Amino acid sequence: MPARLDDDLELDGYEVRRIDGSRTTKEYVCPDCGNAVERGESHVVVWPEHDNDLRRHWHQHCWRLEVRRSRGAS
Ligand SMILES: [Zn+2]
Repeated sequence: MPARLDDDLELDGYEVRRIDGSRTTKEYVCPDCGNAVERGESHVVVWPEHDNDLRRHWHQHCWRLEVRRSRGAS
């Protein structure tokens, strides 16, 4: 069993995985704030269920805000 995510990181329709900083090998660009997710920074990778091609690496705090926004909108 994979470790459960915090409830505030889960969003219906999306797969979310937490990436430990020690396992990151490159920099990514966060789709929310447009800033770099630095190498070595713990973050989350997110993709719509059934669409692996749309994997994006987010700052954890940016994804948390997105979850909050999405829940508020529904
Ligand atoms: Zn960000």
